[in-house]
Amino acid sequence: MEIIVLIKQVPDTTEVKIDPKTGTLIREGVESIINPDDLHAIEAALTLKEQFGGSVTAVSMGPPQAIDAISEAMGMGVDRGILLSDKAFAGADTWATSYTLGKAIQKLGPYDLIICGRQAIDGDTAQIGPQVADFLGIPQVTYVFEIEEVGEESLLVKRMLEDGYERVRCQMPALLTVVSRLNEPRYPVVGLLLDACRDEASIEVWNAADINVQNSDVGLSGSLTHVIKTFAPKFKRKTEILEGDTKTVVADLIAKLRENKLI
Ligand SMILES: Cc1cc2nc3c(=O)[nH]c(=O)nc-3n(C[C@H](O)[C@H](O)[C@H](O)COP(=O)(O)OP(=O)(O)OC[C@H]3O[C@@H](n4cnc5c(N)ncnc54)[C@H](O)[C@@H]3O)c2cc1C
Repeated sequence: MEIIVLIKQVPDTTEVKIDPKTGTLIREGVESIINPDDLHAIEAALTLKEQFGGSVTAVSMGPPQAIDAISEAMGMGVDRGILLSDKAFAGADTWATSYTLGKAIQKLGPYDLIICGRQAIDGDTAQIGPQVADFLGIPQVTYVFEIEEVGEESLLVKRMLEDGYERVRCQMPALLTVVSRLNEPRYPVVGLLLDACRDEASIEVWNAADINVQNSDVGLSGSLTHVIKTFAPKFKRKTEILEGDTKTVVADLIAKLRENKLI
């Protein structure tokens, strides 16, 4: 089974802090990690490889330091790592990111399965998986929490819903986005991690020319959306203490909740 895993390097925090002056993310002092959902995507790919043979390739688009994320994936057992890195890719919105990843996947050639995390903890859009599948013209199943059956040409998975789950059979090649309930990611093996870090040459770095894209179609130039302003919403709290005996306080509280249309 040929499996491609899409991984993103993200800041190790779910609390995005924004510089109020520049409107950009404050990244100083924040360590980078593999996006948590993507660890589950890697684990799923490695488990399938152990069951059915084949190989796992990790692909990431990001700045040169994203090579650390790929090294870690190789430490977990991924066979091949590809970093898409070029100044031309900078400033990409989700559309341009998906296009770039899609072009790299097309260059990689035949595959059975692409596995992504459901959502990145920084961008948080959950758009990349579905957009990549759409670009490649393959079926997609999102929110996968169990891979029940893998056949020659199709697979049966369970996808999470708010109040239950759905069982979906889909043709391969397909793209899955996975949630943390799927599995328990393994730790990197020190030997493999050292190999990946020592011999970074084993991780291929592809630029715009390598994946045959025009600079105008990627990065900021290829983005359909543009950020006008980024800011952290300010919340104002008004506190009021109700005093008196319990019956009066409860009656007052209910009246106030009604008045503010909260009940
Ligand atoms: C309007 C807009 C403008 C933006 N401008 C900029 C900008 O100027 N500079 C900038 O750095 N970012 C910018 N971004 C953020 C950037 O587009 C996103 O971080 C990126 O497209 C991934 O989206 P996401 O983080 O929401 O990932 P999600 O869709 O939430 O991620 C889902 C899964 O897709 C995969 N995935 C996501 N991103 C990657 C990746 N890069 N490589 C491999 N796999 C991946 C992972 O498996 C991940 O778990 C912008 C985003 C928007 C919406």
